[in-house]
Amino acid sequence: MRRVLRRVADLFFPPVCAGCRTLLDWYGRGEHPTVFCETCAAEWENERLETCGCCGLPVGACACMPEAIERAKCAAFRKLVYYHQGTKGKVQNRVLFELKDRCMAQTAQFLAEQLLPALREMVEASGADPGDCRISYVPRSRRAIAEHGADQAKCLATALAELSGIPLCHAIVRQRGANRAQKSLSPAARLQNAKRAFALAKGALVKGKTLFVVDDIVTTGASMAACAALLRRAGAARVYCMAVASDDVNRDPLPKRV
Ligand SMILES: [Zn+2]
Ligand SMILES: [Zn+2]
Repeated sequence: MRRVLRRVADLFFPPVCAGCRTLLDWYGRGEHPTVFCETCAAEWENERLETCGCCGLPVGACACMPEAIERAKCAAFRKLVYYHQGTKGKVQNRVLFELKDRCMAQTAQFLAEQLLPALREMVEASGADPGDCRISYVPRSRRAIAEHGADQAKCLATALAELSGIPLCHAIVRQRGANRAQKSLSPAARLQNAKRAFALAKGALVKGKTLFVVDDIVTTGASMAACAALLRRAGAARVYCMAVASDDVNRDPLPKRV
């Protein structure tokens, strides 16, 4: 049924590559439709092979954490690719802009499928009963949602919850009035700002649970760390972090930002 609906939708909104926006051959798509044309797919696979400066593993296998996330006592941080600031030419930058701007269900679905193996590995490593696991996300501000029409981290978390069978938990909310853009702040100010920006959702049941917090991009890790700290304080047994991309400053053995 879904596939039929998709075909109908394709007639009105022909699928375009999430990397370069060229039209995709919509008859050629199988059960796991790609969101990329051949060129962008090859570029994406290549970016997935970048290695971590700390552990030497390909980015997709590296569990190293930016300092802020480590200090929040997260168990691991898994990601798909490194984000290279200011290089619009990179396929991951383009797909992340696409996700942020339009949060295409198909793009979120594709990225969630790519994150699924890492999620499964973390669930296994945690030793937690899958019934005690929850997927959560770093929520966007109301202003950002109004501007872009969607919350991309929520889209990703929803798709990941559906794929993995792990329930989605809307554990974190944005505090009203605390939505200064993180981008313009120094790392220390980011941490302070992030702490004020998030709060535990009323009635969120996280005590004793193992949480997997999803975001699209982790830069200094301040937002992720603030959310993780909230969850830990609310009694979460463990907090794991995952993102589509980690800023490439996190790839180097010594953080460039102090
Ligand atoms: Zn393309
Ligand atoms: Zn690493």
